[in-house]
Amino acid sequence: MTPGNSTYRGRLAPSPTGFLHLGHARTFWVAQERTRAARGKLVLRNEDMDALRFKLEFVSAMLEDLRWFGFEWQEGPDCCGPFGPYNQSERMQFYRAALEKLRAGGFTYPCTCSRKDIQTAARAPHATDEDGPIYPGTCRSKTPSTINSQPSTRFSWRFRVPDGEVISFRDENCGPQQFTAGKDFGDFVVWRQDDAPAYQLAVVVDDAAMQITEVVRGADLLKSTARQLLLYRALGFPPPRFFHCPLMTDTAGVRLAKRHDALSLRQLRATGATPEALRRLW
Ligand SMILES: [Zn+2]
Repeated sequence: MTPGNSTYRGRLAPSPTGFLHLGHARTFWVAQERTRAARGKLVLRNEDMDALRFKLEFVSAMLEDLRWFGFEWQEGPDCCGPFGPYNQSERMQFYRAALEKLRAGGFTYPCTCSRKDIQTAARAPHATDEDGPIYPGTCRSKTPSTINSQPSTRFSWRFRVPDGEVISFRDENCGPQQFTAGKDFGDFVVWRQDDAPAYQLAVVVDDAAMQITEVVRGADLLKSTARQLLLYRALGFPPPRFFHCPLMTDTAGVRLAKRHDALSLRQLRATGATPEALRRLW
């Protein structure tokens, strides 16, 4: 699809687990600029599934900070739209339906491993991805009755990756990418032990349901794109295009995180910074 096509749908998908910082704003700004260039629509999705870290006060702060910085979205939790609800916490029925589809298709299996089990049994001590050691496949061949007879009834659902398959795609910013399933990443969790969808599943279900045509986000999610492409295929959804932005680092070269309070939009605004001046530094 070329810019100028009005079917373009971009999105901002912030998570209200802390105050937004300048790194988020820069990536979101790229998303907004690309949407504007394509005369498309920008969707705001509130990724509030992370119940442990999520705080209600951060949601209103998030919306306020985004507006202050100059973001304008056409669909979102505060302004509705045809593909709502736009709060992930209100979309459980979509995620459950997707999990059912994956289970029915034989793409997933229940996993009772704790984090410690996985560390102990990891295939190779150095085979890790951003989520920790690559899952060694311990529960792959367990039958459901074995799972049910375990003392703990808590388990997650993992996606069985096609070992050895090379997943390739062209990133609109970073160029051609390829990752090997089972080597660069292992069977990943799609449904958590606490009965909530994992990030990978929720984001795919929502981007597909909201008919997002291009996903703009940070480069830390490049490898996750390979996992997500497997989910798109298994669920029978057409994948969007991807545009990954370099991550912003602080002056010491450390990647910005929500703990960098001094670079939160909230703090920068309090010290008199303007969005225009902040953007000139990019
Ligand atoms: Zn397991």
